[in-house]
Amino acid sequence: MSIAVNYAEVKARMEAACARAGRDPKEVTLIAVSKTKPVSMLTEAYEAGSRDFGENKVQEITEKYPQMPEDAKFHMIGHLQTNKVGQVIDKVVLIHSVDSVHLAEKIEKEAAKRDIVKDILLEVNVAEEESKFGLKMDEVIPVLETIKTFPHICVRGLMTIAPYVENAEENRKHFKDLYQLYVDIKTKNIDNGTMNVLSMGMTGDYEVAVEEGATMIRVGTGIFGSR
Ligand SMILES: *Cc1c(COP(=O)(O)O)cnc(C)c1O
Repeated sequence: MSIAVNYAEVKARMEAACARAGRDPKEVTLIAVSKTKPVSMLTEAYEAGSRDFGENKVQEITEKYPQMPEDAKFHMIGHLQTNKVGQVIDKVVLIHSVDSVHLAEKIEKEAAKRDIVKDILLEVNVAEEESKFGLKMDEVIPVLETIKTFPHICVRGLMTIAPYVENAEENRKHFKDLYQLYVDIKTKNIDNGTMNVLSMGMTGDYEVAVEEGATMIRVGTGIFGSR
């Protein structure tokens, strides 16, 4: 299977999921998760229409970023160490994986130095799995209350990595829970109106995530093959 064929298939499935949910496909961004893959493969995806790429390692971003066309956008989706924030802050459009005030403080500092406002998402460990990074559901609002006061950070929404499951339907409840939290925050205006991103859904469950309100899906294997 070629990357172009895979990319078109994922897009078509995403659009079908939008249709089932009565949503406009323009509301959903497909992020091609290109971690571990060479630039030649990112270029194939770019030629197939992808402009958004997800990476989880700072070193891969710094290597690939200068080799891609200027309109290719990189998303930091992996755990970010505070001492590496400075290396990626000006190379990524969005940091999906902010899971502590401590990390946000470092992003605030680096963004202030550059006189920019950095878009971030708060990562939520929605199933409260021991092995995963991310805030617990009940930590999200207090952390948001703090981070929203940082002048060089804009909290654009929430992100989750749902559990690995055989049947995507098992994750529907987690996507519903995160959507509910997202809507609560917006309804109570805790975000001061900055939030419009819900990053959830991967190769195994992106269609369910779209049905439950995802505005960004992160698909790796489904586009690039296994890692
Ligand atoms: C690897 C990764 C993905 C993509 O996973 P696939 O199952 O290959 O689609 C999505 N999100 C995050 C945070 C990842 O690390």
